[in-house]
Amino acid sequence: MEYQTLAVLSGLPEDPHGAVGLPIYAVAAYGFKTLEEGAERFASGEGYVYARQKDPTNRALEERLRALEGGMEALVFASGQAATFAALFSLLRPGDEVVAAKGLFGQTIGLFQQVFAPMGVRVRHVEPETDRVREALSERTRAIFVETMANPALAVSDLEGLASLAEEKGIALVVDNTFGAAGALAKPLQWGAHVVVESLTKWASGHGSVLGGAVVVRESPIWANYPQFLEKDARGQVPWGALGPRCYPERVRTLGLSLMGMALSPFNAYLLFQGLETVALRVRRMSETAQSLAEALLGHPKIKALRYPGLPQDPAYPMARKYLTSGGPMLTLDLGSQEAASRFLRAIPLPKVANLGDARTLLVHPWTTTHSRLSEEGRLQAGVTPGLVRVSVGLEDPGDLVAWFREALGEV
Ligand SMILES: *Cc1c(COP(=O)(O)O)cnc(C)c1O
Repeated sequence: MEYQTLAVLSGLPEDPHGAVGLPIYAVAAYGFKTLEEGAERFASGEGYVYARQKDPTNRALEERLRALEGGMEALVFASGQAATFAALFSLLRPGDEVVAAKGLFGQTIGLFQQVFAPMGVRVRHVEPETDRVREALSERTRAIFVETMANPALAVSDLEGLASLAEEKGIALVVDNTFGAAGALAKPLQWGAHVVVESLTKWASGHGSVLGGAVVVRESPIWANYPQFLEKDARGQVPWGALGPRCYPERVRTLGLSLMGMALSPFNAYLLFQGLETVALRVRRMSETAQSLAEALLGHPKIKALRYPGLPQDPAYPMARKYLTSGGPMLTLDLGSQEAASRFLRAIPLPKVANLGDARTLLVHPWTTTHSRLSEEGRLQAGVTPGLVRVSVGLEDPGDLVAWFREALGEV
């Protein structure tokens, strides 16, 4: 089935009342009629026990995401950060290393530096090119971590090259596919990534109304290379032997949801489930608008550099052609200085906010906001300059947007 068919039909549970749509289970715990039934549910992990671990509303969202990303299993979390943490924590042990892209989402860098480093996990940041990553690998590297599209540099990762390198080394390629819009713009698992993590807060929600995150896992024998799946667990079973390729997603559920409790509210799952029905339509329209905005502004005398992966002259264009369904909803303008960016943002009648994927066009000055906690050198390395303005294109009329951008540029 094609994406848009899955987006509206996948994951819908059978409802005893014939409800068409997703009911919200505002329920914390699920009972059993007999001791034997309870014992069976605990032993098998099938069915529902307690909503921290699994509940029917969240499960429907997991089924839909699994279908849309093309995975074997999906798990949902309270936020994108929770999903990223659970996915990596389930893979890494003290002494392990990760090779990660430079210029990742700021709080992902924070997770590596402030959470994983003190636990004894070392991270090396390199340009996310296959050759650079290969050079940075060591005997202790247990994961490669990149984003589908770097924020805000808008470089698209060579997913196929990185996946085959990871396969060759027997380690996991983990891709933050937030910019891939739940598979509507990019599907890293299809190119061989082992794990996708993503923030559903952005394009999946689509209206800036709710937080959520997901881990989606491809079926793979790679987990047999990790000692935690070959040693007896708390139940006395060897996860790889007992569960095969499901051992990894089961560990993510046990650690991230059962033990750490980073569970998504079913009310939020309901909104995200609905958001997924229109994400591909929204992203296509946003991409068309972004393309016309980029074309209309290209060569404007007040713009020092314009980046849009859908323009043939853009450095990201070849990778975007290969991995994305369109040029995408993101573009950046470098106006040359913080002063120029400040005048532009003051003049434009659109929200200035550190978020993405909303129905409204959102603008942000990464130098003083999203990336302000990095050193100057760190910011420049991530492609953030003092004059840079990041634009997440929304659903407004393209003509109105072009007019507003031109007027605001006139104030620079
Ligand atoms: C927003 C974002 C996250 C974090 O997601 P939250 O839902 O805000 O926790 C992770 N990665 C990328 C690329 C993001 O844009």
